[in-house]
Amino acid sequence: MANKKNQEDARFEKGDLLTVEITDIGTDGEGIGKIDGYTLFIKDAVIGDTVSVKIMKAKKNYAYAHLEKVIDPSEFRTEPKCPIARQCGGCQIQNMTYEKQLAFKQNKVRNNIVRLGGFDENFVDSVMEPIIGMDEPWRYRNKAQFPIGKDKNGKIVAGFYAGRTHSIIPVTDCLIGTSENKDILDIIISHMEKNKVEPYDEVSGKGLVRHVLIRKGFTSGQIMVCLVLNYRGKKGTGIEFIKEQGKLTQALSKIDGMTSISVSINTDKTNVIMGTEIHTIWGKDTISDTLCGLEFDISPLSFYQVNPVQCEKLYGQAIEYAQLTGKETVWDLYCGIGTITLSMARTAGKVHGVEIIPDAIEDAKKNAKRNNLDNAEFYCGKAEEVLPEFYKRESEKAGADNSALHPDVIVVDPPRKGCDSACLETMLKMSPERIVYVSCDSATLARDLRILVDGGYELKAVRPCDMFSHTVHVETVCQLVKR
Ligand code: SAH
Repeated sequence: MANKKNQEDARFEKGDLLTVEITDIGTDGEGIGKIDGYTLFIKDAVIGDTVSVKIMKAKKNYAYAHLEKVIDPSEFRTEPKCPIARQCGGCQIQNMTYEKQLAFKQNKVRNNIVRLGGFDENFVDSVMEPIIGMDEPWRYRNKAQFPIGKDKNGKIVAGFYAGRTHSIIPVTDCLIGTSENKDILDIIISHMEKNKVEPYDEVSGKGLVRHVLIRKGFTSGQIMVCLVLNYRGKKGTGIEFIKEQGKLTQALSKIDGMTSISVSINTDKTNVIMGTEIHTIWGKDTISDTLCGLEFDISPLSFYQVNPVQCEKLYGQAIEYAQLTGKETVWDLYCGIGTITLSMARTAGKVHGVEIIPDAIEDAKKNAKRNNLDNAEFYCGKAEEVLPEFYKRESEKAGADNSALHPDVIVVDPPRKGCDSACLETMLKMSPERIVYVSCDSATLARDLRILVDGGYELKAVRPCDMFSHTVHVETVCQLVKR
């Protein structure tokens, strides 16, 4: 009965062929078309296209449809540079002109703040600044993590997971990554073939090589390779590989700029890429790079912004929003290896950085020394625990002047899930003059902005920045000022 009812309710059925004009873009970059109020979501269709589609999954008011043919292409449609752009899950909107991508991202941030943050449209338009785009939106990523596996014929391949699946699309020369990636992967794969080293198999949990992490300092030219291994140190799987390591590192070390080669041990059945145990097998433990005029050491496990060109522009904007004059106290929550913290330390009185990954905090401390900045203090832990504990400790100090409790500026740069509520609560208690919020997910940003504005702040400026060209992701920096 229920089934029959559903079928009656849905306007279309699986397999139906339709022609539709794409009039909107969804948050994942998909095209949206309407037929008499019934909505169709079509991956790879571009706003302005007229397309023929086949219904894949029909619901009462909407359906997912497969793009069969572009009948009349949109003025915003462009030929993707990458031959496998459609299969690969990485770049969702390579078929959209770059200008249109930027407009889409600007609008995505705006709409999320309006709809999910509950802000007035006109108000949001008045505080939004134009998105910072790239001059050359290719080969911008300084980091790539390639899964290693086998294709249907049993050949070892490196590449990317096809959108939302775990089958690997072989591609070693990704056009948003560096050109060295291919040479490095070719060496590793031919070494594996020669020495009969098995790639890891997710289903059986057997096999050795899971992923290859490659990172390059764009300014320094230094390259890091980290092989993620399913290696328990016992006889059997992987022994040959470890024995042959000498030859592999020798081949890899010939790559221009090679500075650090390491292995990361990950024997867990998980889709987390890196294991927490790292062993350097050739060269240094870290690579270094220059960002915003400062030098940074970067470990395999540390977060480092993937698009250094845009990152400098983003941090420049964050620093402008922080309005530092040289005497301010600044907290930088989710600080990674201290990039924002130390960029601000140059023009602040005292800076405090908080970060959850111990290796990143170690890097941050070294980076402060390396750049002769002695006004930075780093804490390892969760922002939502470190900050409340600091607040409690300071407020309990007898007869203390509580200026430590009230910094001038708090900067946050959380992962996609945004700030924890305990963190936001303490930030409000500390009531800094300014809050600078750097976000890689405008949905959680919108949610957190609402909490901060309800807690006594005024949203003064919102500026998106295109750090991830050809993907649907967008970075945003906001300035909030105490009312
Ligand atoms: N500001 C840095 C890092 C931003 S990425 C930069 O621009 O380079 C977000 C960082 O938050 C990562 O380094 C991650 O390890 C860290 N992180 C994630 N959850 C956290 C938490 N609950 N508390 C503190 N840091 C956290």
